[in-house]
Amino acid sequence: MFNGFISRLLPYIPRSLVRVVASKYIAGENVFDAMNAVKMLNSCGCVCTVDMLGEFVTSRAQVEHEVNGVISVVQAIHSSGVQSGVSLKLTSLGLDIDYDFCKNNVKAILDAARKHDIFVRFDMENTPYTQRTIDLYNDLYDEYGARIGLVFQAYLRRTEDDILSLADKKTSVRLCKGIYKESPEHAFQTREEIQANYKRLLSLLLENGIYTGIATHDDVLLHYAMDYIETHDIPSDKYEFQMLLGVRESKRRELLRLGHKVRVYVPFGKDWYGYSVRRLKENPEMAGNIVKAFLKPGS
Ligand SMILES: Cc1cc2nc3c(=O)[nH]c(=O)nc-3n(C[C@H](O)[C@H](O)[C@H](O)COP(=O)(O)OP(=O)(O)OC[C@H]3O[C@@H](n4cnc5c(N)ncnc54)[C@H](O)[C@@H]3O)c2cc1C
Repeated sequence: MFNGFISRLLPYIPRSLVRVVASKYIAGENVFDAMNAVKMLNSCGCVCTVDMLGEFVTSRAQVEHEVNGVISVVQAIHSSGVQSGVSLKLTSLGLDIDYDFCKNNVKAILDAARKHDIFVRFDMENTPYTQRTIDLYNDLYDEYGARIGLVFQAYLRRTEDDILSLADKKTSVRLCKGIYKESPEHAFQTREEIQANYKRLLSLLLENGIYTGIATHDDVLLHYAMDYIETHDIPSDKYEFQMLLGVRESKRRELLRLGHKVRVYVPFGKDWYGYSVRRLKENPEMAGNIVKAFLKPGS
């Protein structure tokens, strides 16, 4: 209840305070910070995907800046020799401005990534963009094939059909619950319904041999996934677990100890506020952490 109250207050809490509490979810402001985080995670046995924070960009000049930024991430991954892919939010690359403009921007990034054999995944944003994200993936599939992947959200009612519509492709899928506020018309609303759909979709993906990034910190789903993998003898080259930087690190270490591949999503950049607020709202200890940061001298 206290968390709900703080959630409603978040827009009024000074950014500097939000920054302090949210810092564990963000690698830093620049690409060097991101590479340092990736190196550290690689040394602990995790692979990564780097996200240069940014979304809902409406100016072409800003989009160009974003495209160049992501290309510099690709180059940094290559020159640092780290094990990491890249995650993209298409609304930072012009999806809200013009579909073909966005497609050309994504192609520029994919060409740079292909040179260095770096995998690129399109994050899934809110429902106004779901179909356009899938369309863009389909439009680029013939040229980039297994070098690109998609994300599906288990809270959406349409996701099962979306997965089935890609059955003839070798799609690499990240399956997450979904983070945006969606209407009951589009999305399951209760925790139980979302978990049930997540389990159904995960089984569908794995039984069809689709490479799946199991992106969740939810114990119920993690146990379901581990049981399914064991009882159905799912080979280790058909799945990986995925977690967000700064979330449930002890669980991440446990998955590694059990011999699973784990990828950590590493966001960085100056546009940290929207992402951080979403993470804080999911943190069961958010209220306490904000109060602690507020009471700490100098924060
Ligand atoms: C690698 C990765 C990529 C993602 N990409 C997308 C995407 O493209 N599109 C999209 O809509 N969503 C994406 N998400 C977010 C996802 O949809 C969920 O919002 C988020 O992962 C929380 O759901 P959960 O399955 O972990 O379950 P929850 O029920 O939210 O969490 C389970 C438990 O994990 C712990 N936990 C969760 N979050 C936090 C936190 N911030 N701080 C501390 N503890 C926490 C708590 O103990 C909680 O009870 C991604 C998630 C991951 C892991």
